[in-house]
Amino acid sequence: MPSGSCCSIKRPDASHFALNAPALHAKHPSAVSAPPACAVYLDMRRQLLYARSVGFRDFLGNAATVTHLRESVRSGRFPHSLILAGPRGAGKYTLALMLAQAVNCLEPIEADSLPDFCGHCANCTRIAAAANLEERVAEAVAAREDLRETDKRETRILVQTHPDVLIIPPDPPQLLIKLGQVRQAIHAAYYRPPIEARRAFTIFTSSAFMKEAANSLLKVLEEPPDRATLVLLTENPQELLPTIRSRAVIHRLGALPPEELELLLATRRPELKPKDRALATRLAEGAVGRALTFDLSAWLASRQDALIILRTALREPDYSQLFRATETYRAGADGQEKTIALLRALGSLMEDLLLIAAGTPALIRNLDLAAELAALAQGLTIDWIDSAARALVQVEQGMRRNLLRSLSIDAMAVSLGCASAG
Ligand SMILES: [Zn+2]
Repeated sequence: MPSGSCCSIKRPDASHFALNAPALHAKHPSAVSAPPACAVYLDMRRQLLYARSVGFRDFLGNAATVTHLRESVRSGRFPHSLILAGPRGAGKYTLALMLAQAVNCLEPIEADSLPDFCGHCANCTRIAAAANLEERVAEAVAAREDLRETDKRETRILVQTHPDVLIIPPDPPQLLIKLGQVRQAIHAAYYRPPIEARRAFTIFTSSAFMKEAANSLLKVLEEPPDRATLVLLTENPQELLPTIRSRAVIHRLGALPPEELELLLATRRPELKPKDRALATRLAEGAVGRALTFDLSAWLASRQDALIILRTALREPDYSQLFRATETYRAGADGQEKTIALLRALGSLMEDLLLIAAGTPALIRNLDLAAELAALAQGLTIDWIDSAARALVQVEQGMRRNLLRSLSIDAMAVSLGCASAG
């Protein structure tokens, strides 16, 4: 458990959360100077479930950029501020974590005559624990939900699986990087020299900053701290202030073509049939890490239930089948995970319906269901599908705390049906 300005509470599901919310500051005077934040530390069991990368050979594509950055690790002239720009799925976040590992590995190795990381030392494993960003952020958001109303408002989302590597995602619900988060980065960079790493890393996973947050960040870039690197990930560097761009080294990454990703899956996940490889590639949206670890059978099980909900809503309702499926969604941590997986599957089906209704069926992700989705999409308007997909996201947000999940799912299926009939 990391020490420092955080204190921990044990959760029933054995995940370890560390909060330094205002309510906890009184008990921990050392935390008072730090702005409120909500960070999440990792449950080791989950870490093992998420496949660990064993070095830069796991990073596909963009070889010239990766080589250049590894050379800067070797020369000891790693930049203080770095912008990694590229489309979703290009591997910006994965590369940022790998660089943090390469700089801080306790048993560094060389591969292709360039610095690499071992993947198993304490620094490597703790940094890799942040690899599943979506899940880590969901945990931090859930931890914030459990705070008192007044503390919730002032608490910002951070992910920190290593004491010297701070990850700052856009803060929901606005999904912007806020001043409180940048203050936390400043605190980490200037007032807390790295304890267990040679160089501290702060990774901003989005370039959507609130104005005052961007101005505050600019001050850090003007006077970069000695043993720290700020990494900004962006799909579009133009979103960043020109003054921020001019103070950082920019590297651009291109997306990995789906054919290459499928080829990779053929060698790394030989158990997948060609049809499943194509499906996993689409569902991972080109993201290599996600494609390599995608649990297709769990996804297909969730999607089967999501299809029952859609059929109930849009076709002849068969409520007995619906209730048989939804009664398996129970309260508690496992039920919550299962419910969220169901909602995501439903969301991806909705998006595909939207693509079909928009006349671009070639872009759908659930390739194997093309015929059924085309039939379901008949008679649906784009507006309806779009608003239903948005409603789903809201259900997901509200559902994290809902104990009567199966009833909520039933209610949602029925209301989707009513909406389509109307
Ligand atoms: Zn290592």
